[in-house]
Parts: sequence; C-alpha cells; structure tokens
Amino acid sequence: MQQRAIVPTPRAFELWFTFRSGVAPDLTRQMTQLLASGQALTPALLDGVHHEFLAMPVTNTDMVSDGAAQIQQAAEALATQVATGNAAVTHYADTLTHWAERIGDQRTVAGLVGAVTALTDATMKAAERNRKLEQQLSASATRIGKLRQSLSDVKQEASTDTLTGIANRKAFQVGLKQAIFQARAVPSSPLSVMMLDVDHFKIFNDTYGHATGDLVLRLVARLLTDNSKGRDTVARYGGEEFAILLVGADLESAITVANQICESLSSKRLVMKGSKQDIGQVTISIGVAEHRAGDTMATLIDRADAALYRAKELGRNQVCSEAQLMREVAG
Ligand code: GH3
Ligand code: MG
Ligand code: MG
Repeated sequence: MQQRAIVPTPRAFELWFTFRSGVAPDLTRQMTQLLASGQALTPALLDGVHHEFLAMPVTNTDMVSDGAAQIQQAAEALATQVATGNAAVTHYADTLTHWAERIGDQRTVAGLVGAVTALTDATMKAAERNRKLEQQLSASATRIGKLRQSLSDVKQEASTDTLTGIANRKAFQVGLKQAIFQARAVPSSPLSVMMLDVDHFKIFNDTYGHATGDLVLRLVARLLTDNSKGRDTVARYGGEEFAILLVGADLESAITVANQICESLSSKRLVMKGSKQDIGQVTISIGVAEHRAGDTMATLIDRADAALYRAKELGRNQVCSEAQLMREVAG
C-alpha cells in the first residue's frame, strides 16, 4: 500500500487485505486491472471498489475468517517488529496484539472494519511517533556529530604546534609516557628518542630575518616527518629544537635515521621561493638514546640531551649517541 501511495483508510485496508488474501476472485480481478492501469488509487476510487465488492453483508464466513487470519498474521508480524523496537512504541504493540487476538473471532465485515479502523489508528499514531522520534534522533545525531568534531578539533589543536603543524612538546611527552609504559610491559620491544637542535639558528635569524627563520623551521619539520615512520612521533620541542620518538627502534636503527636526517638537511642549498635569494645551508645536531630498564621520561630525555650537547661540542651537523658518549667517558 505504501509503495502505491494508497491512503491507509479503514476501507482501503479492508480492500487491500481482501485483495492480497485472494479470497474474493472478482475483487482480485478488479484490483489487478486497476493496478495495471497505473491510475492513482485515490480514496474515492477505492471507496467505489469497496462499495461494489465489500459493502454488503457477507455470508461466506470462510472468506471472512481467511481474511481475518491474514490480518491476524500481519498484525502479529507487525506486533513482533514493533515489540522489538523501542519503548516509545510499546503501546502500539499492545494495541496490535489486542486486535490480533480478537480478529480471528470476527465473523462480519463490520467487525473486520472495526478491527481495521483500530489498527489503522494505532498504526498512524505509531508512524507519527516514529517520525518524530526519527527527527529527534537525527537532530541529536547531528548535534553529537558536531560536538564530537569540535572536541576532536580542540584535542588536535591542543597537541599540534601551530607554526609547523607537527606534534607539540605536550603531545610528545604524552606519547613518550605511553611508549615507556608499553616498553615496561614488553621489554623486548625497543624504544629510542632523538633530540635535535638547529645549528647557529640565532645567526641565521639575524642574517635573514625571523620570518625566513620560521620558514626554515617548517622545512625542518617536513624533512623530519619525511624521514620517519608512521608510528614515530615527530615533535617541535620548543624554539628551534625538535624531538622524535621512535617506537620499535633500537639505538643502532635510531642512529641510522638520525644520520639520514643530518645528511638530508645539510645536502640542501636553500633558496627563497619568491626572491630566489640563496640562503645557503642549514644544519642540525642530533643526540640519540635508547630506553633501558628503570628509565623515566626525564632520564631518557636527559641522556639524549647530553648526547646532543656533545654533538654540538664536536662541531655540530652530526649525530652523537649515548653509546658514543659512554665510550668517550670510559676512554
Ligand atoms: P646552537 O648551534 O648552539 O644551537 O646555536 P643557536 O643559535 O641555534 O642557539 P641559541 O639557543 O643561541 O639560539 C636559538 C635561536 O633560535 C634564537 C631564536 O631567535 C631562534 N628561535 C627560537 N624559536 C624560533 C622561532 O619560532 N622562529 C624563529 N625564526 N627563530 C626562533
Ligand atoms: Mg636550542
Ligand atoms: Mg640551536
């Protein structure tokens, strides 16, 4: 009925159920012709058909009880569907069940019409309730969706460095804390940290200006990201200092990545996009340390920092690991 856009009046319901049950061959023929003609099945048209075939005392009790059985099945099926729905339509299910139980006893068209009227009323009310509920749910879903998006934006903003778009110091610390926690749980899984600092950046700023310096910091951030894996955390630690958390990397692999970064940056001659001004070479120094049993965030960062300090001392544009530092101290 819904597919044919039939207005669900009690008469239309009765007509449709009798037609679908096939118990009145003349009515079935008439309805089949009407449907095939493609004309709109308006309430007036269906009232006419109803009057012709059904608006008379029915003596054939088999037909009535057959149609009643069909209605009963449909009502029971609907009752089942609705009962499994939400609490708001519990009342509707009760109404359907009520009629499903009594409809089999109807022996006259008048009785059926009464049942169908009650079912139609209940169905229309439930449909209206459902429509409202759907609108409310949809509005709530939209609201929740927006809220979730803005929360995720805020979270993203709070953990991102605005100049470079990479993680900020806070996000790095959160990631490192989690990684240390996991490394304690699975000691066989290595974890390394790199501290990086742009060389002589004060002189660079003094020479080319702060704005150009900012562009260089963005370039460095991109280069670091390009040289690290998806699960590594590349962060701006502050000023012209960066940090990388390498999950699953031991000291040797971290040193390899650090050397790649150093070489990749120092091999570039930087040229300003617009003015084509040659701003020369920018280099970076890197300290590397690997997590060991008993490390806290501070002790691990301190060892990487000490190695970075040594890389500066040794002439910058190079990598120094905690292992190298230890060898020097021992030697
Ligand atoms: P070193 O090789 O020993 O690290 O020397 P350096 O000059 O890089 O170190 P120093 O700590 O003396 O200077 C850091 C400079 O980094 C000074 C500061 O102007 C610059 N800097 C820090 N943050 C920013 C920034 O956000 N943008 C720009 N353009 N420069 C920055
Ligand atoms: Mg510095
Ligand atoms: Mg520096």
